[in-house]
Amino acid sequence: MIPKIALEEHFMCPGFEGYWSGTMDTVPAAGKAAILKKLNDFGEERLSGMDAAGIAHAVLSIAGPGVQREPDVAIAIRLARQGNDFLSAQVQKNPKRYSGFAHLPMQDAKAAADELTRCVEQLGFRGAMINGHTNGQYLDHPDLYPFWERAEALGVPVYIHPADPMALFPALADQPGLRRATWEWTLETGSHALRLVFSGLFDKFPKATVALGHLGETLPYLLWRFDSRAKLYGIKLEREPSDYIKQNFVVTLSGMFSREPLMCAVDALGGDRVMFSADYPFEGARDGAEFIDSVDIDENLRAAICHGNAERLLRMKL
Ligand code: MN
Repeated sequence: MIPKIALEEHFMCPGFEGYWSGTMDTVPAAGKAAILKKLNDFGEERLSGMDAAGIAHAVLSIAGPGVQREPDVAIAIRLARQGNDFLSAQVQKNPKRYSGFAHLPMQDAKAAADELTRCVEQLGFRGAMINGHTNGQYLDHPDLYPFWERAEALGVPVYIHPADPMALFPALADQPGLRRATWEWTLETGSHALRLVFSGLFDKFPKATVALGHLGETLPYLLWRFDSRAKLYGIKLEREPSDYIKQNFVVTLSGMFSREPLMCAVDALGGDRVMFSADYPFEGARDGAEFIDSVDIDENLRAAICHGNAERLLRMKL
């Protein structure tokens, strides 16, 4: 079994259950309780699951949306810091197996930038995970440029995790089966990522790196169309949309254990931009491992996806 680094693995921080609970209101109570138990565990159950999947190292992140949905800015700043300190204490108990992505109060760009710096430089975190929009504000907003400046200077990835949209998309309103992870989050999160591209954010911060789960939230499949339509609509960017997606984005599997989208992401972005993640405990780490260990791909590519690309991105060595 190839050793793996997993990039989208979640935990629950005390005090954050309320934010998370809302995103689980369509999951039956027993299933929700089982997931919460796994989120709270940093010991035997999580580690034995990682062992069985060959996951040597997991970068942990708070199960969203966390303070991205906190209306009070001061509370968001305080709780984000508290969440990062909680994670740091868990990581310190087992630094070989765990590290962290920072949880950030995007309501205040300066506070978010300072907390990211603290997390990277003092706590050894590998970057940030942001759970979609923050009370309706997306990451391309000009108020957030000081944050991007800092993320770029620190050279760490900013991972955009799915979240519920502010308002229900009319086409999904009477089809609950299409909500959330089935399709709604792909639409929401893919749109968020495309806002960064089409707003020209990467012309201002050309070295910024954004990570997306779910093999890129369908973006790799649509590169040609983005370029073609950007021309038609006269979008003013220094480069073609696909160039930014190829050069400023990396993607992880997170519950997309299927060869067709994997090969699309590899073909579209390059084998050096695709990484393993399980999305534990929302997907089984074992399922992800069985897929990537056995899928019919070149062995060098398998090693790159499982750990080589993450070692380079996160500046770590297994
Ligand atoms: Mn996830």
